[in-house]
Amino acid sequence: MTPKAWLFDVDGTLLDSVTGTSLRPLARELLAGLRERGIPVLLWSAGGDDYAWRRARQAGIAEFVTAAHVKAGRDGRGHWVLPHLPPEHIPAVLVDDQPHEVPPVGEVIGVPPYVGPNPRDTALAALLDELERNR
Ligand SMILES: [Mg+2]
Repeated sequence: MTPKAWLFDVDGTLLDSVTGTSLRPLARELLAGLRERGIPVLLWSAGGDDYAWRRARQAGIAEFVTAAHVKAGRDGRGHWVLPHLPPEHIPAVLVDDQPHEVPPVGEVIGVPPYVGPNPRDTALAALLDELERNR
């Protein structure tokens, strides 16, 4: 099976890292677009799977989320260890504001940390464009 799931970090990637309540501009559109195409959307967070779900619900994006996982431990190179996933959830794309901490099991896409609410943030625009063009 060809991996196609997308795995997103929560804090600083989809939600601002200071209040944890501001959804990054275009995040909703991106996640909705993925799900429309049948692509699993996974979250993971050092805060845990419950934390990720809670933030997703608060931000109004839970309906697009397939599963949430904890970033529980690191390997010898400082990468977070991927949780045990069903084959269809092995990520093809991993989006994170700390891309050097992400295991290179698929295409790792680094985004600038989304620090605080900022309606002008455009970090996800290129991803959304790409998705709408061909993914
Ligand atoms: Mg982060």
